[in-house]
Amino acid sequence: MTRRFDAIIVGAGQAGPPLAGRLTAAGWKVALIERHLFGGTCVNTGCTPTKAMVASARAIHLARRGAEFGFSTGGEVVVDMARVQARAAAISAQSREGVRGWLDGMDGCTVIEGHARFVAPDTLAVGDEHVSAPRIFLDVGGRAVVPPLPGIDTVPFLTNTGILALREVPKHLAVIGGSYIGLEFAQMFRRFGARVTVVEKGPHLVAREDEAVSEAVRGIVEGEGIAVRTGAECITLSPHEDGVAVGVACTEGEPEVVASHVLLAVGRRPNTDDLGLEAAGIETDERGAICVDDGLATTADGVWALGDCNGRGAFTHTAYNDFEIVAANLLDGGDRRVSDRVSGYALYTDPPLGRVGMTLRDARATGRPLLVASRPMSRVGRAAEMGETRGSCRRLSMPKPGASSARRSSASMATRRSTASSTPSTPARPMTCCSGRCRSTRRCRN
Ligand SMILES: Cc1cc2nc3c(=O)[nH]c(=O)nc-3n(C[C@H](O)[C@H](O)[C@H](O)COP(=O)(O)OP(=O)(O)OC[C@H]3O[C@@H](n4cnc5c(N)ncnc54)[C@H](O)[C@@H]3O)c2cc1C
Repeated sequence: MTRRFDAIIVGAGQAGPPLAGRLTAAGWKVALIERHLFGGTCVNTGCTPTKAMVASARAIHLARRGAEFGFSTGGEVVVDMARVQARAAAISAQSREGVRGWLDGMDGCTVIEGHARFVAPDTLAVGDEHVSAPRIFLDVGGRAVVPPLPGIDTVPFLTNTGILALREVPKHLAVIGGSYIGLEFAQMFRRFGARVTVVEKGPHLVAREDEAVSEAVRGIVEGEGIAVRTGAECITLSPHEDGVAVGVACTEGEPEVVASHVLLAVGRRPNTDDLGLEAAGIETDERGAICVDDGLATTADGVWALGDCNGRGAFTHTAYNDFEIVAANLLDGGDRRVSDRVSGYALYTDPPLGRVGMTLRDARATGRPLLVASRPMSRVGRAAEMGETRGSCRRLSMPKPGASSARRSSASMATRRSTASSTPSTPARPMTCCSGRCRSTRRCRN
């Protein structure tokens, strides 16, 4: 038997539940299918537990700095990893139950638990049941990539999911991958008391940032005693009597580090390989991301892809913004486009790194004149008061053609003009059906 709805949403992550809320409020009969934990990655194995643990790590760090702030804890700070873990798990559980309760109480929404898979362009199988709708929204998220490193099958390793369950502090944690997930775990576990080594294949940490920013982040984590090995192009893993031997050096430094635990933090892969997408004619790119146009429609009529699975963002706020775009276009007669989104994200090290808009590298590539203002935090009064003087802030602006130089130079921070690169004029904004290379570019609205 096939149950029919006005819309089906697959995945109760960051885009699915609010979309269910908007569609049901508009009178649609909606089925929401979730195969595992309500709230998805962010609530259960991503943002929420990691930021709760970052908070524990920061409290521990500050307690160790007590003398600086004028207090003493009367002895060594002792970390109880089981309690750190339990606190994070409780916060996640509350959020997960909140999402579940919200959906269960939503008029017009039928919650179905199980793995959804296309069997026809408008029909999904969930176990023995078939559900069908003229409009289907995929919010299936992603999972940690396990790269085919030499020796990977011979050693135990953790991903962002397994590491959250640790009840004791690792003796030596090797973090493979020096981007935002790896660095957050690296710093928190260092603060919990582990020896930590970050192993990064590329020449810099957080490669998407400007080199100077990457180096500042490196200085901050190294300042807390984290060892950083960049340019590790030949990473290998092998069993060792003390845990895992991680081969890191190709050219310089110690050839290997021996770690008690290994965390893989080398990227995410969309959960699209077990969705039966071929039954609906939905294309993916070489990374497995669902190809979408600027309004997030897939290559199949009546099917949209939102959140991490479309490769157009990798954050909770981008997934939520996808919901806003789809809802505005379908229900409010809008013409919102994902390419209009201003990029912004945060790396929750302490101090955190936040960026809205372009890097200096990308801004220079436009060929337009730039104003660059920067100030070290050591020269910010509030930072000195808080004892948080590491790092700096920077603002880039592109003056409008014809703006007076007096007005331009009125920026309050130390402002210097940046010479634009040799690119002669602003290039046309690249528009593709999706982030990677898709076989088809039909249905692009660009
Ligand atoms: C360690 C870590 C820390 C992070 N920290 C931050 C942060 O601080 N800030 C931030 O903005 N982002 C952060 N992120 C990223 C953020 O978690 C994701 O971008 C966000 O969860 C994406 O939401 P989503 O709705 O696309 O997918 P998800 O949240 O992954 O939800 C997808 C849901 O779909 C379900 N599903 C998948 N396939 C099927 C199927 N076939 N049938 C039924 N259900 C299915 C899954 O079970 C899951 O519940 C972090 C990620 C990680 C891993």
